[in-house]
Amino acid sequence: NPTSRIDKLLSSMGYGSRKEMARLAKVGGIILDGVELSDVNLRILVTPDLPTRFVIDGEALDPVAGMVILLNKPLGMTCSHKEEGALVYDILPKRWKLRNPAISTIGRLDKQTSGLLLLTDDGDLLHRIISPKRHIRKTYRVKLARPLCGTEGEIFASGQLMLDSEEKPLAPAELEIVSQTEALLSVTEGRYHQVRRMFAATGNHVAELHRERLGGLSLPEGMTPGQWKLLSEKEIASIF
Ligand code: URA
Repeated sequence: NPTSRIDKLLSSMGYGSRKEMARLAKVGGIILDGVELSDVNLRILVTPDLPTRFVIDGEALDPVAGMVILLNKPLGMTCSHKEEGALVYDILPKRWKLRNPAISTIGRLDKQTSGLLLLTDDGDLLHRIISPKRHIRKTYRVKLARPLCGTEGEIFASGQLMLDSEEKPLAPAELEIVSQTEALLSVTEGRYHQVRRMFAATGNHVAELHRERLGGLSLPEGMTPGQWKLLSEKEIASIF
């Protein structure tokens, strides 16, 4: 574990500038191991237990770098700064937008898709999860505008489906039919608007799209749209 100056660490976690950290310490706003911190230039070993050791302005320190957030993404929010509308980042504590390394979504869900979305400040982990080589399974609950015709499962499983303006066929995907107009679709890739385009290729139209699973993770029972939680090491490991 690397060491860091305390003011620099807190600043990188979005608490404010180093000057502001010095001022906060002066008024007793930074407690370390039960004692008011007087010198914010002190170096500290950056370990995952710091939130149990620091109290900042009366509250436990935020998680240190290396966090993974599981969010039940609500409809109507976007994952990209390029799109219009509220961002999923607006759901998280305000200062988390100022963190360095930055928190970003692990892949994206469309504005009109809800469900399991991961965010992290760990770039290596992000790349391991979105890498197509890893074949991490993502399962979507799909509600359709028209009844299924019955051949979709075979088409998706074939590994031969070509989407418009793409050069490589889609990897095999698995369809589990729930009703005439509802199904669970599991894919291992993350192409642009993939699920919507897959059903469009069969002459149907996706009316509602919700991600329920990613690798070994499911959206927790009872987690409502907009709710989120930090994942434990064990939960992170279950992705792979
Ligand atoms: N496929 C889509 O079409 N949209 C999503 O948001 C996710 C997968």
